[in-house]
Amino acid sequence: MNSLTFCAGKDSNGRLASRSSASAIRDSSYKSWSLTTDRCNITARLRRNCCTAQALTAIAITATANNCSLPVRVIVRPNKWNTWSESNFSSRLGLTVSLDAFSLSLVNKNIDAKFAAADCLGIDLNPNHAGGLFMLVVMHSHATEEQVRSVCQRIEGLGLKAHPMPGANRTAIGITGNKDAVDLGVLESLPGVSECIPVSKPYKLVSREAKEDDTVLRIPTPSGDVLVGGQHVALVAGPCAVETETQCLAIAERVKRSGARLFRGGAYKPRTSPYSFQGLGENGLKILSKVRAQYGFGIVTEAIDNESLELVEEYADVIQIGARNMQNFSLLKRAGRAKKPVLLKRGMSATLDEFLMAAEYILSEGNYNVMLCERGVRTFSDFSRNTLDLAIVPAVKKRSHLPIFVDPSHGTGKRHKVLPLSRAAVAVGADGLLIEVHHEPEKALSDGMQSILPEEFAELADEMRQIAAVLHRSIN
Ligand code: PEP
Ligand code: MN
Repeated sequence: MNSLTFCAGKDSNGRLASRSSASAIRDSSYKSWSLTTDRCNITARLRRNCCTAQALTAIAITATANNCSLPVRVIVRPNKWNTWSESNFSSRLGLTVSLDAFSLSLVNKNIDAKFAAADCLGIDLNPNHAGGLFMLVVMHSHATEEQVRSVCQRIEGLGLKAHPMPGANRTAIGITGNKDAVDLGVLESLPGVSECIPVSKPYKLVSREAKEDDTVLRIPTPSGDVLVGGQHVALVAGPCAVETETQCLAIAERVKRSGARLFRGGAYKPRTSPYSFQGLGENGLKILSKVRAQYGFGIVTEAIDNESLELVEEYADVIQIGARNMQNFSLLKRAGRAKKPVLLKRGMSATLDEFLMAAEYILSEGNYNVMLCERGVRTFSDFSRNTLDLAIVPAVKKRSHLPIFVDPSHGTGKRHKVLPLSRAAVAVGADGLLIEVHHEPEKALSDGMQSILPEEFAELADEMRQIAAVLHRSIN
């Protein structure tokens, strides 16, 4: 934790000034203000009742100067929650300050302000752009389920959406749906509530701020639950596309023997060319159901639009949203209303923030069972179908509690690269692998070049068990 102290006040000519030196702290006309950085957040707390708008402006400017290149945004929350909207504030007092690398938005004029939060991620965090000021109600560790329920009811009673997020030590309840800051003061006094804090990241429910512990997903299958995340690493194996029943059953029998418990195969294929094999549609889903019934697999299969999602939800155990649809917002919202877990693949040119924001769409609709999947991005590399961006795994883990898979098949496009990149993926902390396997890859209707043989998958599964064990994890 780093701590910086900033001060603001009037200089000897009565002009607004700000300093960050210790001498300023001793000068009583300057009010002190400290910023604490924890992970990527900066939390600022006013030490005294000094929150004039001018002082805050000066403080923020000083903070910018001290933070060098990092933009800082300060939100001030009053004790009494009698908030003003940002636009109100700026129009009435003209106090929204915008500099190149910095913008200060005061949510309240209040003199008693006790709390401010700033973010130094370099992202535009204006709540009007980010879909509302997101609040988190943190419950005491000893809060009862009944207390959590009644806080949720109060939130819903205010016309907002409550997202209870149980953690190992305490439950936090995310609030979405508020376009402007709303009066949530009442919540702080409810039994079991520890505090209400604003979350300043653009992604909210997916963030580690909202939930500290890794999410461990439980995927129900006919042969029991498959766990993903935390100590648990999952293997998903199967062909790129469902071609025939014989093909699927043959592959399923082999990957089952190697210990895979989740089976993949596209019934709906998003293809670059309209003349390429488009998948068998519902008939493909019926074939997957047979695989499920015969071998006890959980089925992972892609939905390409809202219509196919209805059917995928009915037949499968995990709904896959493919790279090409990562920013299909209506599909994401529909997946957010689905009752099954979602595997969300990273778009081929998506940034980390865009990826997490896509997941946020799903969670914000109430489906918290989301797994991310890195599947390679487009680069200038000329030896690989895509560049598998394994560095995103620890980056996601730093920012989010959601599990992340790696797909080395699409990530490389070449069979011989799948095993080495799988090793690296598990070593870097992936929570699962998505592997294309085909018993006759030369005859495959799609992605034969990157599909490994069942015997190669057996070797892969065996090695992954050993690598996971070194990291005190297990494959289930
Ligand atoms: C797939 O997994 O079948 C697929 C089409 O992958 P992606 O969306 O990553 O291209
Ligand atoms: Mn494929």
